[in-house]
Amino acid sequence: MISSSSGPVETRYLHDWTGTRYGTPVGLACPGDAAAVAALLAACHAQRQPVAVQGGRTGVSGGAAPGDGELVLSLERLDGIEAFDRHAGVIVAGAGVVLQTLQETVEAEGWCLPLDLASRGSCQIGGNVATNAGGSRVVKYGSMRQSVLGLEAVLADGSVLGPPNCLVKNNAGYALSALLVGSEGTLGVVTRAALRLVPLPAVRRTALLALQAGAALDAVLACLRRGLGDALSALEVMWPDFVDAARAARPELRALPPAFAGRRVLLVEGEGDDDVRLGERLEACIGRCIDNGLVADAVVSASARDAASLWALRESVGEIQAGIRPYVGFDLGIACAGHDDFVAAARQRLQQVLPQQRAFFFGHAGDDNLHALVGPCEQPGQRDAAEAALYELLAPLCTSITAEHGIGRKKLHHLARSRSAADMAAMRSLKRALDPHAILNRGRVFADE
Ligand SMILES: Cc1cc2nc3c(=O)[nH]c(=O)nc-3n(C[C@H](O)[C@H](O)[C@H](O)COP(=O)(O)OP(=O)(O)OC[C@H]3O[C@@H](n4cnc5c(N)ncnc54)[C@H](O)[C@@H]3O)c2cc1C
Repeated sequence: MISSSSGPVETRYLHDWTGTRYGTPVGLACPGDAAAVAALLAACHAQRQPVAVQGGRTGVSGGAAPGDGELVLSLERLDGIEAFDRHAGVIVAGAGVVLQTLQETVEAEGWCLPLDLASRGSCQIGGNVATNAGGSRVVKYGSMRQSVLGLEAVLADGSVLGPPNCLVKNNAGYALSALLVGSEGTLGVVTRAALRLVPLPAVRRTALLALQAGAALDAVLACLRRGLGDALSALEVMWPDFVDAARAARPELRALPPAFAGRRVLLVEGEGDDDVRLGERLEACIGRCIDNGLVADAVVSASARDAASLWALRESVGEIQAGIRPYVGFDLGIACAGHDDFVAAARQRLQQVLPQQRAFFFGHAGDDNLHALVGPCEQPGQRDAAEAALYELLAPLCTSITAEHGIGRKKLHHLARSRSAADMAAMRSLKRALDPHAILNRGRVFADE
């Protein structure tokens, strides 16, 4: 047995953000470099020792939480910025670098990593890569995959892939890094990432829009996309229950005009070079939405601080979750045109099967990503009932049971709703080829064979 810590493993390493525990690990390893990760995995491979790979443990799919007999492999000590090309806008960071640390480092030099999540203060670059994290600016910049130029990663047998590609174009052989992005620690352990940055926008403006009751969400989005073009950097939607719960949980949130009561609220962010021009463009675009009968009222930020107070409404998810634990979280991929009908149908079903539970809907509207929180679900069977209620509304194969959070442990029994039998077989073949003894994150993404 391989154990790198003495005594029981500290509680914080036993679960991810959801708090669910799956068992008792045999120990904790916190290697300080890729060579140490490689030596550890080679030994684990030889001894068939299962490993639970951990970043910042802000994941919500249970992937980072260890099970019985697993060795926790934390990447937290790989926390160095190893190279920063300030001309090319390329940074090479250790897997354990906290996202916010990297954001602040590059922003001080006029660059920006487009990825931004409310968990920025704890999640790590390796975890962001492993989950192909999305966040709030996917509508403009894409998910983490679009920022990854190359990776250094350790395979289950201890062999080290890399060094990370830092070139903008490189077609020399298979894109192994792209394969590892989003593989949730099941195909390899990310130790370093080369990331492509974008110039830091000079200004950002944020607005909250109260949608007219009958306005189709995709029509509002189309109006904003056409009006803002390249300047559009975030499009987030919240249904009325979410807005009310956020304001109840955080009374300090800015008061909204009366026209916002009981309406869906859209958060829109634009980026640009010139504050006045961006403000004019945003206001003209909102004006068109109002004239077209899509929007009832709007609030536009006047300063960065003001913008942060509008974002705080959307970022109150943690407070809402805390009020309904244990909750069931949904991360659905559905074309935006179908969001309103889906929410109405889901509410109806939930009312039938879980009438005592509360449900909150919100999402990254610009990315076809609808989130829901349903809880509290304390009794056995309530989680299954909530999942059945929502997943059975999804059209098979052309929708997703997870748009950004990943399958982890929590959704593995539902993967076949979103992927074909051939897809599943190909994924299993890849897993067997790269990790023949299934030591890495066993029982995540798909069930043990
Ligand atoms: C308040 C809040 C808001 C969030 N908002 C978003 C959001 O908008 N968009 C979004 O996509 N996610 C969001 N998340 C989920 C989470 O923050 C992301 O999934 C994040 O990318 C996880 O990073 P982590 O370092 O915490 O990874 P962990 O939770 O530690 O791990 C997540 C998965 O990645 C694997 N892993 C971790 N590090 C490595 C590594 N170095 N090599 C290989 N595998 C590894 C783990 O085994 C696990 O399967 C949010 C979470 C919270 C709590």
